[in-house]
Amino acid sequence: MNATSSYAYPQNEDLRKLVHFSAKDGTIWLAENRMLLLHVMAVAGLRKELINSVGLEHARRIITRMGFASGTRDAELAKKIRGQQNPIDAFMVGPQLHMLEGSVKVSPIKLDMDIALGRFYGEFLWENSWESEAHTQEFGIQKDPVCWMLIGYASGYTTAFMGKFVLFKEVECTGCNDPHCRIVGKPVDEWSDADQFTPYFETDSIISQLLELRTQVDVLRSSIEDQYRLDNLIGESPAFKRAYNLVSRAAATNVTVLLTGETGVGKERFAHALHDLSNRKEGPFVAVNCAALPADLVESELFGVEKGAFTGAHASRAGKFERADGGTLFLDEIGELPLPAQAKLLRVLQEGELERLGDDKPRKINIRIVTATNVDLECAVKAGKFRSDLFYRLNVYPIAIPSLRERKQDIPHLANAMIKRFSTLHGKRVEGLSDKAQQALRSYQWPGNVRELENMIERGIILASNGSHIEVEDLFPNPEMRNDDQVAIDESGNLEPSSGGEKAPVSEMFFSSNMSLDAIETLLIEEAVLRAKGNYAGAARLLGITRPQLAYRLKKNRGGEDDKSQAATGEPTT
Ligand SMILES: [Zn+2]
Repeated sequence: MNATSSYAYPQNEDLRKLVHFSAKDGTIWLAENRMLLLHVMAVAGLRKELINSVGLEHARRIITRMGFASGTRDAELAKKIRGQQNPIDAFMVGPQLHMLEGSVKVSPIKLDMDIALGRFYGEFLWENSWESEAHTQEFGIQKDPVCWMLIGYASGYTTAFMGKFVLFKEVECTGCNDPHCRIVGKPVDEWSDADQFTPYFETDSIISQLLELRTQVDVLRSSIEDQYRLDNLIGESPAFKRAYNLVSRAAATNVTVLLTGETGVGKERFAHALHDLSNRKEGPFVAVNCAALPADLVESELFGVEKGAFTGAHASRAGKFERADGGTLFLDEIGELPLPAQAKLLRVLQEGELERLGDDKPRKINIRIVTATNVDLECAVKAGKFRSDLFYRLNVYPIAIPSLRERKQDIPHLANAMIKRFSTLHGKRVEGLSDKAQQALRSYQWPGNVRELENMIERGIILASNGSHIEVEDLFPNPEMRNDDQVAIDESGNLEPSSGGEKAPVSEMFFSSNMSLDAIETLLIEEAVLRAKGNYAGAARLLGITRPQLAYRLKKNRGGEDDKSQAATGEPTT
C-alpha cells in the first residue's frame, strides 16, 4: 500500500473530539491521557539545561525516550479510535495527533505497511518542527539532526502500532539548514547502521543507572538511620537486658529518668529509645549537652530569651525547654550545669512552668526530662557543685547503662550491625572480622565503650581491602592497644584463648596463689590505680566497675589498713 504527499488524511474530527480543556479543574485531556500546554521556550530552556548538565548524548537519549513514551501512548489511542478502519487510516492517527499536539506538520511521502507480515516502510516530510526551532535558537545550526523527541515519537508510535521495533531516522533536518525535516522509518533489522541509533532508545543509560543508584542510596540511607538508632540497642547480655527493661518500663510513665554510665555507653540512644517507646513519641525529642553550652548562654539556650533581655538579645527566642514541649528533653552531662541554671531547672520541675530570660510571664510546659551523667552526682552534691534538692528530683528513677566491658557478649552483634552500616555508608564490601580481630575485640577493655567500638569498626571498614576481612591492624593502628600477646595460635594453627584474660588460667593462678579473695581484690585495685596513674575514674574503668563502687572498695580497704588486725587486706601480696 503506497501513500504519497497527495495522500489525504482522514477527517481529524474524531481526534479533535478527544481533546478537552478543563480550565476549571486545571487539566487538559486527550481521551484518558492528561496533557500539558507548555511554553515551547520553557521546554527549550529545560532542554538546554539538560544538555549542559549531562551532555549532548545523554540529553538526546532522555529526550528521544520521552518522545518514544508519548508515541507509544498515542498508538494505544489509535487502535482504540480507528482500530476497525483500514490500517492506513488507523496508522494516520499518529501523524494527525502529532500535528494536533502542536509538535510538527507531517506530510506523508511514502507508506508501505502490512501489520500481519510485519512489513513497514514510511517516509514523511516534517515542517515547523518545534524542536528544530527551539534547538537552533539556543545552539545555532547543527551538523546532526536535532528533532530527537519527534523521532522518538515516530519510532515509539510505529513500534507500538506494528508490534515490532521500527526505527525512524531523520535524513534531513532544518536544524542542519535543510529546507525541511524528512524522516524514514524501517524495522530496526533493516537498517545497516541501526547500532548507531538504538542506544538512544535504551533505558540502560548512565543517567537511569545514576537515578536508580540514587534511589537505592536514599532507601539505604533511611534504613541506616533506623539501624543507627538501634545499633547500640542490640544486646542479649543480662546487663544490657536489665537496663533496657528499666527503660521500657519507665517509658510507660512520665517519670523523670536519670541515666548514669561511662562516656560512650550510648546514653543518648537509650534516652531516644525511652522517648520512642513512650506515648510522647509523636512529640519532639530535644537533646542538649550541658557541657557544650557556653557558660554565659546556658540560661538563654535552655529557657529562652525575650527581646532586650540583655545586650545582643535582638529577638525573642524559645529555649530548648519550650522546643521540647509535648515531648522529651534530654539533658546530657547534667553535672556540668551551672548553679543558677540548676535553680531554674528545679523550678521547672516543681512547677511545670518557666520564664524566659527578661520576661516575667510564666509559660506552662509539658515535657518529660531525661538527664544523664558520667560523673558521680552525689560527690558533686557533697562538693557543693550540684544542688542536693535538684539531685533528689532528678534521681527518682536512675538507670545505670552498662559499660561495654559489662556486656562483652554483645560485642559480636554490635560489631556485625556496625559493619553492615558502615560498609553501606562507605560503599565497601567487607567479609567481616578476621578471627584474630574478633579475639582482639573480646580481650580489649573498651574505655570508650560502644562509641569507641563504633569508631574502631568504621576505621576498620575504611582501612580493610575491598572483599576481604577486617584485620586487627585495621582496628588497632597502635600496636600497644592490640593485646597481641593475648592472641595465640596453638600447634595445629587454631586460635586459643589468651593466657592473661580468660577464666581458666586466672582461676588457676588464684587457687595456686593461696591468697584470700579480699587480698586479690586489694591487689587488683592497687594495680589498677597504679596503671591509671592515680586517676580513680580510670582505675574504675580498668576494673569494669563504677567510680562509686571503686570509692566504696577503697574506703573498705583503707579501713582495713587502719585496723592492722584485719588480716584480709593487710596480707602480703608478693
Ligand atoms: Zn528536524
